Amino acid sequence: MTVIKKLNDLDITLSKLSRKKILSLVPTMGSLHKGHISLIKSALKYSDEVWVSIFVNPTQFNDINDYKKYPVNSKEDINIIKSIDQNLNIFIPSIDDIYGKKIIRDKYNFDGIDKVLEGIKRPGHFDGVATIVKKLFEIFNPNFVFFGEKDFQQTMVVQKLIDDYFKDIKMIVCPTIRAKNGLALSSRNSLLSKKAKKNISIIYDSLLFAKQNFYKFSNKELKKIIKSNIEKNQGFLLEYFELRCSKTLKICNHENNHNSSCRAFICVVADGVRLIDNLLMHNEN
Ligand code: AMP
Repeated sequence: MTVIKKLNDLDITLSKLSRKKILSLVPTMGSLHKGHISLIKSALKYSDEVWVSIFVNPTQFNDINDYKKYPVNSKEDINIIKSIDQNLNIFIPSIDDIYGKKIIRDKYNFDGIDKVLEGIKRPGHFDGVATIVKKLFEIFNPNFVFFGEKDFQQTMVVQKLIDDYFKDIKMIVCPTIRAKNGLALSSRNSLLSKKAKKNISIIYDSLLFAKQNFYKFSNKELKKIIKSNIEKNQGFLLEYFELRCSKTLKICNHENNHNSSCRAFICVVADGVRLIDNLLMHNEN
């Protein structure tokens, strides 16, 4: 296993790689959990050489406190990756190596898909995501890249980046891995208070409720019921619940769900910890 912390060393290592090798990249911000592991295992199936990057990217945080609070566990992450497969490779760059002296968030045009949901609540977030993802794609020039459905809007932004700048890269979107109670695994879950953890299954339960009642209620009614159920829990706040098309992110409902692409997107703040999730309102065949 290779662990590289300096961009120069990485460049040397990558330059020695045979061009015939299929290279996959799994970008992460570390504090790895089973969701990340599933991405890494999928990447192993697709490729000769898998690189996992671990970098808490400052430009995608719109709130400095959120950035400072973000959990960091590099040693543990390396052990987790080692235990998956000895042939995995890890890149843990410094901020200097990625950004130099000026930490700048580039600006992109995502045709509006960055202007809804997370884009409203976290201004600049997707420009920050694209900034780091573009840098990593330029460094690694991967054949395949792996992202999670859990951050569905992010996968759309990355696909737009690929369409605009990296036509040869193929993105594989991996299904959301959940805890037994349905909670989507997230590095942020470790920040939840004991009290919040007790009732946190309400997020996935709300998505299931929406799916089960998609044809029974209007979007407005669904949101009203879900908001009331969530906010019955002290310290829980529904930031958004919206039904949007998986292809365009335009608002959809049971009347215009012609291609079965309606997806519920939810964001809940539980005792100060902001969690997102999403679910397709139709069963996938
Ligand atoms: P992060 O470290 O949170 O930036 O996530 C790195 C990658 O792992 C992103 O592509 C995420 O969408 C993906 N990911 C995070 N949580 C999960 C999960 N529960 N299931 C599947 N993929 C996930």
